[in-house]
Amino acid sequence: MKYISTRGQAPELTFEEAMLTGLARDGGLYVPAEIPQMSRDDIAALRGLSYEEVAFRVMRPFVGDSFTDEEFRDIIARAYDGFDHVAKAPLKQLAPNHFLLELFHGPTLAFKDFAMQLIGQLFQVALKRRGETVTIVGATSGDTGSAAMEAFGGLDAVNVFIMYPHGRVSEVQRRQMTTPSAANVHALAVHGDFDDCQARLKDMFNDFTFRDEVKLAGVNSINFARVLAQVVYYFTSAVSLGAPDRKISFTVPTGNFGDIFAGFIAKQMGLPIDQLVVATNQNDILHRCLSGQGYHKGDTIPSISPSMDIQVSSNFERALFYAYGQDGKAVAQLMEELKQGGFEVSQGAMQALTETYVSGRASEAETMATIKSELAASGELLCPHGAVGVKVANEHRTNDTPMVTLATAHPAKFPAAVKEAANVHPDLPARMADLYDRPEQLTEITNDLSALEAHIRKTIAQ
Ligand SMILES: *Cc1c(COP(=O)(O)O)cnc(C)c1O
Repeated sequence: MKYISTRGQAPELTFEEAMLTGLARDGGLYVPAEIPQMSRDDIAALRGLSYEEVAFRVMRPFVGDSFTDEEFRDIIARAYDGFDHVAKAPLKQLAPNHFLLELFHGPTLAFKDFAMQLIGQLFQVALKRRGETVTIVGATSGDTGSAAMEAFGGLDAVNVFIMYPHGRVSEVQRRQMTTPSAANVHALAVHGDFDDCQARLKDMFNDFTFRDEVKLAGVNSINFARVLAQVVYYFTSAVSLGAPDRKISFTVPTGNFGDIFAGFIAKQMGLPIDQLVVATNQNDILHRCLSGQGYHKGDTIPSISPSMDIQVSSNFERALFYAYGQDGKAVAQLMEELKQGGFEVSQGAMQALTETYVSGRASEAETMATIKSELAASGELLCPHGAVGVKVANEHRTNDTPMVTLATAHPAKFPAAVKEAANVHPDLPARMADLYDRPEQLTEITNDLSALEAHIRKTIAQ
């Protein structure tokens, strides 16, 4: 299995190489040269299997020769061992034909754990075999950072630096990043917003001297191994609800387009997905683009669903790559235009996008109202991201096809917003109850590439 860049100019890599590299050297993102297929019988055979076994069968063809079957089974078992629900991604019913896919039973209470725990184990096995050490730098809008720190903390072949926008993540999110005690994980509070953090990360990858010197590796959602891990729960949930004998729709609260793009991969593999609904908050660049208004950057407005406060949605490049018939030149051209503020999508590509995705948005008031009304209707306390999803799902679901809305985080990660919306304080699970008492460690730093690089060089030299 070979991996190619969305901009068509970087060398083809194996799964392991693409995973360790992150961003391609032409600035593009890696995707599989061909998407493996699962037949109707393959999908039917997933019924009743454990999450781990489904994960093995769904992801195995993407991994190629990079890991043996035995290694890969072992990696999966260790990755999902720390989840506190035996189903890993359980379904709950909200209403007739509407289901919530709970993706917050991992160590940091957000769906990011599904990918990050897997990637931590994959990195460990691969780096051990190679006898290498790498520096992982991540940019986070809130949840990726702690998930990476939990997944990589204590692994001696890896140093981890997480940049987050200072003052723009929830207190629980911040504490989850500033309280891990492992010596190899470091929180950087950057004076800027998430797009600044993400831009500095891209700058570091494009600074080849620095990149080679510190052996830079990326675990942001641009890493295809992360997307791959998220494909699995589309299969487990769809099969639970009757696939492959009936179609299933999904609504996905979206920021960087990673989670929803995993749904696209599942569909391309053969899972009978009807609608893939993109749900955005007031930072609705994706909804505007999918509504035919082009892709034009605005200012990021902080919201109560901060993990979706994004204007430059990095994985959308992958969606564009497929919509443009895998034309890397066309994608590279669009990304050039994006540097000047935005681009228009061609008519053909727009048709391809709207055949695959529909979209909607939720304002702050609508998100709050949904938290309150869903608690009254089903007893389910949603986090603000899940509430954005439920609001948009309700606009798209039908009586014929089950709708699955992805609940991307536990409500206790966002207690202030949940309390304001529903007048209920969401408690942290017992295993995290002392989070507010743990000592915090962080470095405040300016939004400046050379300052960030100098800090990273100095820290790993110690
Ligand atoms: C990261 C995140 C999202 C957005 O996921 P993308 O893959 O970036 O689209 C939504 N909700 C929560 C809670 C998240 O942490």
